Amino acid sequence: MSPDTGHLALRLAKQIEGSGPISVAEYMRAANSEYYGSRDPLGVDGDFITAPEISQMFGELIGMWLTDIWLRQNRPSDCHYVELGPGRGTLAADALRAMARFDFAPPVHFVETSGPLRTRQTANVPSAVFHNSISTLPTEGPLLVLANEFFDALPVRQLILTHAGWRERVVVRDRGTRFAAMPGSSAMDAVVPEAFRNAPVGSIFETAPDSAGIMYELAARLAAQGGVMLIIDYGYVKPGLGSTLQAVKGHEYADPFLDPGTCDLTAHVNFVELGNLARMRELHVAGPTAQGVWLSALGINQRAAALTQASPESADEIRAARDRLVKTDEMGGLFKVLAVHSPDWPAPEGFGVFPK
Ligand code: SAH
Repeated sequence: MSPDTGHLALRLAKQIEGSGPISVAEYMRAANSEYYGSRDPLGVDGDFITAPEISQMFGELIGMWLTDIWLRQNRPSDCHYVELGPGRGTLAADALRAMARFDFAPPVHFVETSGPLRTRQTANVPSAVFHNSISTLPTEGPLLVLANEFFDALPVRQLILTHAGWRERVVVRDRGTRFAAMPGSSAMDAVVPEAFRNAPVGSIFETAPDSAGIMYELAARLAAQGGVMLIIDYGYVKPGLGSTLQAVKGHEYADPFLDPGTCDLTAHVNFVELGNLARMRELHVAGPTAQGVWLSALGINQRAAALTQASPESADEIRAARDRLVKTDEMGGLFKVLAVHSPDWPAPEGFGVFPK
């Protein structure tokens, strides 16, 4: 056993023994808090790789996208760059470098709970101010908010249909450091949308309470302060049923109920819900659209060509990175992009445009 193996498992086992089963959401929240709090999970030697770590083109194009909106809004001087869960700070560093070429250098705010990742972020973006939650973000000035692979790390609550009706799915101790999910006792029928009420027994309906809370509060901030928010993640664009909870460790799928805190737990992001929450605050919504379509509309091919011209020896590497980000059967199709903005800000680029 490695030093951290089983540490959280033991704590959760004690908790369950003492006060009964916990919800899937509580389990996922505890597991990811331990996981991110104890390591930098990114990169080839880590557990998974994200778009900004694949190529500088990703962050640069996002920086240009923000710059374009800012220019069309007549360069407000009091904007804040805000990033949720910035990982190693790579996206921010690439975006801010691209923005600086247009003398656009807003103050930087990172919402990040992980100590080890804060250290990496400071090295990449020394000026960043840290926040444990969105509640301490500046209350004045427009916010330009980015969230790449952030919402998928937040906990989902699961409801499961039994012969007796919809029940919360709860987690119990199985054996050793393994846990298991089973239907709990409280009736949850009222929470499940009408359209799913007659689904087959065993169906699972997911909600994401923490994501919804963050989206709703940030949407209120955007409505009051102005600005735009960009969300990129894997997820679904139509409401559906089924568990999307998954675990990844060392670039392979793992058992989400084995040894919590030692692998990355994620769930698919419900883009319909995020868009609807923004609409409830009177924001305008663009997308969701596929990442590949969006990056192509923003000019990833042109950027790849420019980088290749500057370093011909890296041509293969640049092409491979572009393909990985854009191709439909790779991240380009799986990942979706959603933007929401205050009504007095311009509509962002890259949506509803079909690249040649
Ligand atoms: N955006 C980065 C990292 C994605 S991994 C990239 O694309 O590379 C998820 C990020 O969210 C990590 O930085 C993690 O520490 C952070 N995170 C996870 N849960 C969080 C929470 N509840 N509050 C703030 N940050 C969180």
